[in-house]
Amino acid sequence: MSALIIDGKKIAAGVTERLKNLVSNLPAGEIPGLAVVHVGDDPASAVYVRQKERASREIGIRSYVHKLPESATQDELLRLIDKLNKSAEIDGILVQLPLPGSIDAEKVIAAVLPEKDADGFHPANVGKLWMGDETVEPCTPKGIMALLDSTGVDMSGMEAVVIGRSNIVGKPISAMLLSRHCSVTICHSRTKNLPEVSRRADILVAAIGKPNFVTGGMIKSRAIVIDVGINRVNGKLAGDVEFETASRKASWITPVPGGVGPMTIAMLMSNTIQLAGLIHSERGE
Ligand code: NDP
Repeated sequence: MSALIIDGKKIAAGVTERLKNLVSNLPAGEIPGLAVVHVGDDPASAVYVRQKERASREIGIRSYVHKLPESATQDELLRLIDKLNKSAEIDGILVQLPLPGSIDAEKVIAAVLPEKDADGFHPANVGKLWMGDETVEPCTPKGIMALLDSTGVDMSGMEAVVIGRSNIVGKPISAMLLSRHCSVTICHSRTKNLPEVSRRADILVAAIGKPNFVTGGMIKSRAIVIDVGINRVNGKLAGDVEFETASRKASWITPVPGGVGPMTIAMLMSNTIQLAGLIHSERGE
């Protein structure tokens, strides 16, 4: 039997539509503002920044892109963040990663006020996430939870295996699955017998950055498979999951493209509107 597709594009469009309606009913003085800080010339970052601007325009929130050259110093960047922290026009601040090597990314992330942290990366917000407190959730994992919720499956008590332990995906999605009462195992490059571990998963999240790494043989029959990976192979996008073999084993699966990717930007918009105090941390509701 072939897996059902979790259509991230459609679900993200639904979130976008709801947020657009919400913003369109606001008086001019209450329209949320998002500042995107882009340092350097990384071409992929330039694409992401443009996508964020486009999404802001579509929803009707104010978007301010601050472009600094590759040669910008850490002090210059910290001064800009301080200005944005103090600006009444700005509800959310996002610093596009990666930053040039001369800049200490952790220091920059910690300089953003936690109550303006559109990415949910500030240590205070990360702490709240692990404590199970209401907070601004990192966009990609928040999108993954919305995709899982769209299946209607009760996650409580399920075995979840997350492959990848990055601060932007692996760790936060693990905290979020835990808060939904999954038993969570986090795997990484030193995990022994990975296929054995992944085959235990009722929910398998692959956030590795290696094309087609997770094959059908690593998946439990009827598992829900979330493929976070964005890899380029011969000019085409490929996920971390080998879709053809995995979709024969899974009950639900996200495609690449059209799965997790579109959700990330929709959730950034949701976070900005949440930081403006217009919604709670529910996923785009
Ligand atoms: P990182 O490179 O920060 O982390 C990758 C993780 O995978 C690490 O924890 C690493 O382990 C683990 N890993 C690497 N090789 C193996 C292996 N052979 N076996 C088991 N684990 C392994 O990546 P990110 O978390 O930032 O991103 C992961 C993927 O998701 C990328 O393809 C990225 O492009 C994509 N992505 C997609 C987004 C979207 O919007 N759809 C958003 C963010 C990321 P270790 O810690 O031991 O090194």
